[in-house]
Amino acid sequence: MKRRDFIKQAGVGAVAAGAAAAPAIAKAGTKIKWKMVTTWPKNFPVLGTGANELAELITKMTDGRIKIKVYGAGELIPAFEVFDAVSRGTAEMGHGSAYYWKGKIEEAQFFSTVPFGMNGQEMTAWLYYGGGMELWQETYEPFGIIPAAAGNTLVQMAGWFNREINSTKDLEGLKMRIPGLGGEVLKRAGGTPVNLPGGELFTSLKTGAIDATEWVGPYNDLAFGLHKAAKYYYYPGWHEPGTTLEALINKKAYEDLAADLKVIVKNACKVVNQDMSLEFAAKNNQALDTLVNKHKVDVRKLPDDVLARLKVLSLEVVSELAAKNSAAKKIHDSYSKFYKQIAAWNEISEKIYFNVR
Ligand code: CA
Repeated sequence: MKRRDFIKQAGVGAVAAGAAAAPAIAKAGTKIKWKMVTTWPKNFPVLGTGANELAELITKMTDGRIKIKVYGAGELIPAFEVFDAVSRGTAEMGHGSAYYWKGKIEEAQFFSTVPFGMNGQEMTAWLYYGGGMELWQETYEPFGIIPAAAGNTLVQMAGWFNREINSTKDLEGLKMRIPGLGGEVLKRAGGTPVNLPGGELFTSLKTGAIDATEWVGPYNDLAFGLHKAAKYYYYPGWHEPGTTLEALINKKAYEDLAADLKVIVKNACKVVNQDMSLEFAAKNNQALDTLVNKHKVDVRKLPDDVLARLKVLSLEVVSELAAKNSAAKKIHDSYSKFYKQIAAWNEISEKIYFNVR
C-alpha cells in the first residue's frame, strides 16, 4: 500500500471512530507491544545483548510505535520452546538458531550451519543472494513463522574437553554437548551427543555429567567460565564454521504491521546480523589472549587424522539427510551448489590471502 493511500485509509477509519485527524493517526498509530523470547541467558554477551539491540533498534526506528520486551531463556518459557512460542503467537518474536528445532524440522539445521560447510560470510551470502532465504521462509511457512538472519558467530571453537583427543579412538564414548548436525557426526564417531541450553553447560561439565562441551568461541566461553571446568580447549570449530543466529517473527503479527514497519523490522534484523558478527570478530581475539595469558588455558588443535575422519562422517550425515527427506534435498542442493562456487572463488581470494599475508 502506498503511504498516501495508507494515510487516507487511516483517516477514514479515524473519522468513522470520531478520533483525531488522519496525519496524527498515521504518525502516532497504535502502540504495538511485542514480546521476544530467546534461547540465550538474559543479557548474555553478544547473543543476549544482540537480541536486546534488535528490540531497541526496532523501537527507535519506529519512533516508539513498536515496543518489544525481551525475555531470556527460562523467563517466560524454556530455551528450546522459543520456536513453538512464536509459532502459536505467545511471543511475536524469538531469537535463537535453527538447529535447535531439529527434532521438529530436521532440514532447518542447514540454516544454522553445516559441519565442514560454509563460513559466516559465505553462509550470509547464500542466504541473501543465493536463494537460501527463500528456502528458509518456505521451511518455516507451515508454522506461521518468518525467519530472518540476525547474527553470525563466525568460526567457532571445537570446545572444552576433560579428555585428550589424540586419535579417533578418543571420540568413542565421549559424552559431549554439541547441537545440530555436528552432534549427529559425533554419534557416528562413537560419541554421545547431548543438547543442553547454554546456561547448563558449566555445571554439567564441572560435575562430570558430560566429558566435553562446545559453546561458541573465546568471548562467550570465557563469559561462562568454561576454562574453570575443563582441561583442554580444542580448535577448530569443524562442526560450526559460521553459525547463523535467527530472528523468528510470527507471521500474523508481521502481516498486521503497516508497510513501513515491516521494512523496519526486516532491516533491523539485517543491521543486527552484521553487528553481532563484527562484535564476535572484535572480541574473540581479546578473550583468547585472556584465556591463554591470564588463565593459562591449554589450547590445542585437533589432530589432522581426527579432523579428516570427522569430515568423512560429516559428508555422510549430510548426504543421508538429503537422501531421506525431499525438503532437505532441495535445501542441500542449493547450499552445495553455492558452496562449490564460492569455495572456488575463495580459494584464490580469502584463502590464498590468509596464507600469504
Ligand atoms: Ca556452538
